[in-house]
Amino acid sequence: MRLIDGSRGEGGGQVLRTSLALSLLTGEPLKMVNIRAGRQRPGLLRQHLCAVNLAAQLGRAEVSGAEPGSRELEFRPHAVTPGHYEVSIGTAGSTTLVLQTVLPALLTASGPTTLVLEGGTHNPLAPTHEFLTRAFVPLVNRMGPKIAVELERPGFHPAGGGRLRVSVEPSRTLAPLELRERGAVISQRATATVAAVPGAVAKRELAVLARRLSWSEDQLAIQGLPKEVGPGNVLSAVIESEHVTEVFTGFGEKSVRAETVAEGVAREVAAYLRAGVPVGQHLADQLLLPLALAKGGSFRTQELTLHTRTQLELLRDTLGAQFTVHQDAEVVTVAWQASSR
Ligand code: ATP
Repeated sequence: MRLIDGSRGEGGGQVLRTSLALSLLTGEPLKMVNIRAGRQRPGLLRQHLCAVNLAAQLGRAEVSGAEPGSRELEFRPHAVTPGHYEVSIGTAGSTTLVLQTVLPALLTASGPTTLVLEGGTHNPLAPTHEFLTRAFVPLVNRMGPKIAVELERPGFHPAGGGRLRVSVEPSRTLAPLELRERGAVISQRATATVAAVPGAVAKRELAVLARRLSWSEDQLAIQGLPKEVGPGNVLSAVIESEHVTEVFTGFGEKSVRAETVAEGVAREVAAYLRAGVPVGQHLADQLLLPLALAKGGSFRTQELTLHTRTQLELLRDTLGAQFTVHQDAEVVTVAWQASSR
């Protein structure tokens, strides 16, 4: 049984999600202690519990410690069983993070799987539906599987009520992904989405983004969603380049000015464009696991976050193989290197 200390590195939900994903993939039982010890409310929250339960259903696993607030968990999986699974988080917890937990095991499973996940689809500090469908999924699909993610109903924090339908057609193996160059930038666009939030908020966000990035009117769009799905406000900037598409996201909050939300997104976009790399900071931590499963590939990215470093170390320790990390000024190259173990 593999023992994982959940307080390692960032000490957040990622250590749990990655450990569960790897347990499903390798069949090795997992004991986790100090779950999310680095967070203000440690232990398993609804979103994490939902991820554990879905992973347990998929892997026909025996589980102990899967209770609200639990800081210890034992997870003993059997075979990953493709099929149709539906789960509801019951809060606005992130459906995309639940997906992150089980997706790796589905990429090379013995048959196709569909998932219906209910909860939040647009949460701060998690991939949004746009990020998944424009940035992450197309890259993983290049490695062989066919993943499709459909937004059946948006769900914003804190109301929730969103629904994602995900289908995964696995491939026998994963091909390495090489992402060294971004290529020419083809288009740069932003959409400000509002649900039960005044349209003026969207206009103010787009005005700041346009001013900061010197974008013109035709690069900007407002999307109004039915009031019932709100309140919610997301600002999403999409940079489409020859070899990759990146998505940068800001979330409107009650106490935060629209201008501040847009300034944050503009800063991220500007830093990404300036760095000249294909992979942004969030995509970087999310690509590590697929690359490790493919046992090959590399990408160039921006300065590594604590999140990415935590993920790198966890994958090094559990999969017995190494990523090399080379930093040249602000550009970091991460490359898989098979270990001698
Ligand atoms: P915890 O549960 O401990 O609060 P968490 O489960 O919320 O943590 P993290 O461990 O912080 O989550 O991991 C968040 C994941 O969401 C990471 O993979 C990160 O790359 C991704 N993520 C966060 N913000 C964005 C964003 N704006 N766009 C795309 N992905 C994002």
